[in-house]
Amino acid sequence: MPVPCAIDTGWPRARAGAVLTIDLAAIRANYRLLRARAGGAECAAVVKADAYGLGAAQVAPALEAEGARTFFVAHIDEGIALRRHVSPGARIIVLHGALPQTEDECVRHDLVPVINDLDQLRRWRAQAATLARPLPAVLQLDTGMSRFGLSERDVGAIADDPDALRGIDVRLVMSHLACADNPDDPASARQRARLLHLRGALPRAPASLAASSGIFLGPDFHFDLVRPGAALYGVAPDATRPNPLHPVVRLQARILQTRVVGPDDGVGYGLTYRPASPRRIATIAVGYADGFMRCGAEDGCAWLDGVRLPVLGRISMDSMTVDVTDAPERLIRPGATVDLLDTRRGVDDVAQAAGTIGYEILTSLGRRYHRAYVADHAPADL
Ligand SMILES: *Cc1c(COP(=O)(O)O)cnc(C)c1O
Repeated sequence: MPVPCAIDTGWPRARAGAVLTIDLAAIRANYRLLRARAGGAECAAVVKADAYGLGAAQVAPALEAEGARTFFVAHIDEGIALRRHVSPGARIIVLHGALPQTEDECVRHDLVPVINDLDQLRRWRAQAATLARPLPAVLQLDTGMSRFGLSERDVGAIADDPDALRGIDVRLVMSHLACADNPDDPASARQRARLLHLRGALPRAPASLAASSGIFLGPDFHFDLVRPGAALYGVAPDATRPNPLHPVVRLQARILQTRVVGPDDGVGYGLTYRPASPRRIATIAVGYADGFMRCGAEDGCAWLDGVRLPVLGRISMDSMTVDVTDAPERLIRPGATVDLLDTRRGVDDVAQAAGTIGYEILTSLGRRYHRAYVADHAPADL
């Protein structure tokens, strides 16, 4: 039986206003589930934005222990930071590619740039020429999202120029789906067809199209490598179906103060909440500076011992107020905690109330929490 292990980071538990628990075993279970869904395709892991706010230093080694060999980040600096947390053989791909004059940094830290335009291609080719050895690269093709990648015209220019890829070892040809979260959207099939078409003009290389949601579009979208991010962290890949992934985060906020308010009182900035009858309320130590947006607060809630605690009034920078009238009296005291994120109310629910997506809730999670990582065993490098 593996012994649960906890790694603590962030503010000391006793002093922090909230405790964020990140379940590395759940992330690993999600990775296994996604890899199984992806059939024979390699399952990479997207750990950009500090693993969607959950801590790449802890998350990447856990994923590597589960078999992940390829990691995607957005920026070179994320790649440089990640290098220290994965083994030398792990492949780190930088989605934004190399900015001018940063090619040597990419080489030094063993990062594989995504080539998004002909200028990036020219600069990477020059770097290879300078070093007199081939350099690995990923070619990104724009198949319809108009965000990143080589256009059809660029691909034509590469196909017509025998020297265009001189010194470049094309490890992967990739594109990104704009509408994968809606399985009925015909845009995904159009993008797939464009990828097949454009890829045909390039030297043979493995291909990749699917991120989290794309994996659930079926085998036609898997190609040789899939690139999930959000689904690893428990975000639902398709809002119309039950979420098959394990929840990964729990956020417990501390009660700072309690009081009883009545019909003569108002609560919070703007006094937007006025009780009709006496209510017992608690001020808890999480606010919008910790990632809980003001927007949609009226649908927000916390939980305590199975009792729903509606958010009252506006969310402040460092605190919010919840109705604890129906919660057990003995549990309502300063220093006790209520749950803001848990298995009852996950990142997708909080996102829906705020009119956004789970991705934004995760990546907004604050830096003022105590962070506790739980794993069913300690990853080797921690
Ligand atoms: C962020 C990103 C991913 C991961 O997307 P998820 O929806 O979080 O799985 C994959 N590929 C690219 C190009 C990305 O930018």
